Formats: sequence, C-alpha cells, structure tokens
Amino acid sequence: MFSARSSYAEILRSVSAGAKRRGLSDEIFPHMRTSEEILRVMSIMTDSVKGYVHSIETLGAVDGPGLRFVVFLQGCPLRCKFCHNPDTWRFEGGEEVTVGEQVKQILRYRSYIKSGGVTISGGEPLRQAEFCLAMIRALHEEGIHVAIDTSGIYCEGVALQAAMEADLLLLDIKSFDADKAKALTGFSTDHAWRLLGEREAAGKTVWIRHVLVPGYTLIDKDAQGKIFEEEEAWKKANAELLEGIRRLKKYACVERIDLLPFHKMGEFKYEELHLPYELKETEEPDEKVIEWAEAAAR
Ligand code: SF4
Repeated sequence: MFSARSSYAEILRSVSAGAKRRGLSDEIFPHMRTSEEILRVMSIMTDSVKGYVHSIETLGAVDGPGLRFVVFLQGCPLRCKFCHNPDTWRFEGGEEVTVGEQVKQILRYRSYIKSGGVTISGGEPLRQAEFCLAMIRALHEEGIHVAIDTSGIYCEGVALQAAMEADLLLLDIKSFDADKAKALTGFSTDHAWRLLGEREAAGKTVWIRHVLVPGYTLIDKDAQGKIFEEEEAWKKANAELLEGIRRLKKYACVERIDLLPFHKMGEFKYEELHLPYELKETEEPDEKVIEWAEAAAR
C-alpha cells in the first residue's frame, strides 16, 4: 500500500510485492527510479495505491458536465479566505481507501453517472497525485469520464501527468492580480496559468472557475459605498476582471468561464474548527452586478 505520504522505497517495495502476487516478473522494478516509471505499471495494481478521502457526493450536479460522482480528497496547501471547505485543509486525516475500493464504490452508481462521470476534487486533489492518476486510468478502463477540480498549485511530475490525462480540468484562477491572489490565497496564480498553457498546447478542455469576492476580485460598490447603478461605471471600476476574462477567452481550450459569487455557507465550519473567518464583514455580491460580470464571461 502506498500514497502521497509514502517514501519512494516504500512505493517500490509495495509495487514489487503486488507484481509478485499476480505472478508478474518484478525484475524491472529495481530499475525504476521515479514515481513516473512506477506509474506506468501500476494501473494494473489499483489495490496498491491508496488515497485519503475527505468525503464523497454520489450525485453532484455542479462539478462538471452531467450527473457526477464527486470524490473530495483530504488536504490543501492554499488558504483561500473564501474557502467553504476549511475542514479539507489538514494534510492528516481523511478515510484511507485504495483506488480499487474507490472505483468499486463508484461503479455502483454507474447507471446514474453515465451522462456525466467522476470529478476528483478537494481540498487540492493533485496533492495526492499518484492516487489521482491511478484513479483516472482505472476509470478510463471502465469508460468513465473524469474531471479534476484543481487550483493548479501542483503542476509538475505525476501531478502534471494526472492533470493532463483528465478528460476535463476544472481550473481555479483565484485572482487576475498577482498581489491580490497572494492576499486572498497565500499563493500567486502563476502555476494555474502554466497548467492552462499545458492543456492549451495539448488541445484538452478546461473550465475556468473564478470566485467573485467583493473588495478582492469584484468591485460592486462605488467610491461612496453604494452598489453601482450603471453598468458602464461598473465596467470602469472592474477593468482588471474584464481584462482577465478577455485573456482567458483567447485560449481555445477554455470551454467555459464560471464566475462563482462569494457566499458564506461555510462560515459555520470556521467556528467549529476555531479558525478565524476573515471575510466576516464581506457582503455577498449584488445580483445585478453578478449579471454584468456573467454577461462579460459568456
Ligand atoms: S484551493 Fe479550494 S480547498 Fe484549498 S483553500 Fe482554496 S477553495 Fe479551499
């Protein structure tokens, strides 16, 4: 058994033992030097790869096309102030499952998700890159469409491989301004743009997600603190957002840009976890202003 928490030697021992159990030659394993090489053979050993699952949603309707089985993986290095799942942040915890067990559970819902598929979300799913890649390969063998919902923070090695093998990437662009992105999440968005470039070069579909947070990624009030009445005045105040949307539209791989209005449905979780909720005073954005932003993104 191995996971993102295992050492290379543990992975090697585990894969080698798995091969032996199946009567396969393990001669090649001592020569494998990277996780990537191991992954070439591990798709036949889904009981060897384990992940840490925070929760599941059996019939999700908002995380990709059609009805989807959504697997939320444990752990995220970002600290988005608007995050409504701070309970997924800790790297420890989560239910330990093998790829084989997870896929078996998903297959029970096969008839419900045939128009959609599976979305691997989080937390940040690509923190558990080996698990994601093995899941994608096992689900593809079953003919199931797979989406990965990511901030793009891990965009090298096995994580990049998983991001590229997914049928659809749901990619967060947290802010169109580098400083605001850092203030809002703790990280820049360079990695997300890099991943978007990789998907563009490969011609693989991306849906962008961008949260509209008043005062950070959306200006919905004028200098007097009143909600904008005129669209033109709003546009002038939101040049950064509109320019970001224009930039995204130049990518042929970007099929959709979903603007998600900030909401406070996760606030109670911060209280339960004794974490500070920094957006306590931030109001949910005005509907008319959201419509203007959505019109720009269409
Ligand atoms: S990347 Fe997602 S899970 Fe992580 S802090 Fe941000 S919103 Fe929350």
